[in-house]
Amino acid sequence: MLIIGPPGSGKGTQAARISERLDVVAISTGDIFRDNVKRETPLGLEAKKYMDAGDFVPDSVTNSMVRDRLAADDVQEGFLLDGYPRTASQVAELDDILRENELELDVVLQLTADDEELVKRLLGRAKLDGRSDDNEQVIRHRLGLYHDQTEAVVSRYDERGIVTKVDGIGPIDEVTERVMAALKVAS
Ligand code: AMP
Repeated sequence: MLIIGPPGSGKGTQAARISERLDVVAISTGDIFRDNVKRETPLGLEAKKYMDAGDFVPDSVTNSMVRDRLAADDVQEGFLLDGYPRTASQVAELDDILRENELELDVVLQLTADDEELVKRLLGRAKLDGRSDDNEQVIRHRLGLYHDQTEAVVSRYDERGIVTKVDGIGPIDEVTERVMAALKVAS
């Protein structure tokens, strides 16, 4: 399955909970990039300049990273992807990878929230853990990219009838309960 949502919608938090409750491996492209930045690997050095500006890391880099990760043994029975795909090219790449592995997407969970609430949340998070991509200008840029490119990704999956939308506003536990209820209906 996939979890898709705008920056600040809590998709990482909810992905971790889904992973635990359903015993499925969660893969976050944002986390993989941040880990590489921290370790100063070539991939991290390449990704950092895009991340700091709130831009997408180029599809060629992101796609091959995901392709490698999805070749690992621990995901052959299924996985939860958090933060990928975000562009049309990434949808096509994921379709290829899934076809090659004889896997199919069961459900695409979209967390929704309005922009002003997200900006407020992200500015709060910036104070707490100092992510270098959490200042207002960069936050608004990331939201713009979500609306311009990632909502089109959701539309593609909507056409396939596999999207479940969940309201991401409210206490974290309440959102988790909504998510779990939506997944039961979807499965
Ligand atoms: P996230 O933690 O999912 O918000 O991701 C943090 C940052 O990592 C994004 O703002 C992008 O710079 C980069 N990133 C994560 N996933 C992708 C992706 N699928 N395509 C391109 N860039 C990504």
